Parts: sequence; C-alpha cells; structure tokens
Amino acid sequence: MKGRIKIDTELCKGCTYCIDTCPAGVIVIRKRFNKNGFFPVIARHLEKCSGCAMCAKMCPEIAIEVYRNDAEKTRKVRR
Ligand code: SF4
Ligand code: SF4
Repeated sequence: MKGRIKIDTELCKGCTYCIDTCPAGVIVIRKRFNKNGFFPVIARHLEKCSGCAMCAKMCPEIAIEVYRNDAEKTRKVRR
C-alpha cells in the first residue's frame, strides 16, 4: 500500500516528533524557517511512505494529513 502526506509548514513548530516516529525516513527538516520563526519539516522521500499515519498521530499541532491509496482511489486517513 502506498501513502502520501501533506504537511502544513506554517502550523509546524519543528519539534521533530514526526521525524523520530516515521519508520520509513520520509520526513526531513526544511532549511528555511516559516512565518513563526520555526524550521518546519517537509516530506522528502514520499516514495517510501506507507500511509501508516504514525507521523500524524504524534504531531501536537495537527499539521500532517495522511492519504492512502487503496486500489484505484486515494482516501484521507488522518488529520
Ligand atoms: S504516514 Fe507513516 S510512512 Fe508515511 S510519512 Fe507518516 S509515519 Fe512515515
Ligand atoms: S510533529 Fe508536527 S509540529 Fe512537530 S515537526 Fe512534525 S509536523 Fe512539525
């Protein structure tokens, strides 16, 4: 199963919980800070994402949306 995540970089506080939690190493820190002065995270290796939603469950800012591809359709599994 393939997954995909969408990160709201303006909500992100750069705590890195999602990086520590992701078993696939999908998420990395962006080098440019956001409007609130935090270095947010971005999805760099989306091809490895399984859609497990662990990252979204850990995010205290609810900044990550997860989508999972089941057969032909993509459905949102978590925000
Ligand atoms: S959904 Fe799972 S595999 Fe995909 S980025 Fe989040 S923790 Fe990693
Ligand atoms: S857990 Fe949420 S707030 Fe923390 S770095 Fe990841 S996206 Fe940003």
